[in-house]
Amino acid sequence: MHFFFNFNEDIPEQFYSEQDKQPHSECSVCGNGFGNGHYFVEKAFQRTHDKSSYELTFEYAICERCKSDMMQSISKESMKHIQEFAMKMGGMPVPENSNDVEIDLKQYLTTCIATGKSIDELEEYHLVGIFRGNKMVQLPMLYGETFIEEYSELLSEETKGFFDDFFNNITLLPPTLAKILEDEKPRRPVFI
Ligand SMILES: [Zn+2]
Repeated sequence: MHFFFNFNEDIPEQFYSEQDKQPHSECSVCGNGFGNGHYFVEKAFQRTHDKSSYELTFEYAICERCKSDMMQSISKESMKHIQEFAMKMGGMPVPENSNDVEIDLKQYLTTCIATGKSIDELEEYHLVGIFRGNKMVQLPMLYGETFIEEYSELLSEETKGFFDDFFNNITLLPPTLAKILEDEKPRRPVFI
């Protein structure tokens, strides 16, 4: 991942909690506030049946400590596959220095970093961001379905089982959506 040490932007609304339309304020796993630490937000969207818009399928915010616990739960085999995959992908071309170049944030929020496809062309996407306090401290990342599927295939059964448990424990859903998904839990990997 490319790191910008000076990246410091207001949190885009796309990352707000669906429930209260505010930035996330506590970890979805341990329930603690984020304090001065970094935290990560992932939101997953799927195109609605009539194709007119997108609906949230899940979202969560996670603190650094819970994230590192989570990484340890991912099997060694999966981790190796993920690292090889990330190397192969090479990531999104980014400017050398964020101070020199005007970053088009909107583009990062609407374009798959793996395929360059705009969300208009996607059936499904995940949006991932890293934050501290009320600021976004890295460029956001958007992954479309091609990436999600390839990534999902890399994971061992053990790791997939872990993700299923993770969803059962922390998935935050608007109540109406939770009902719809009760029988059909998202079988999706998470990216953070
Ligand atoms: Zn936590």
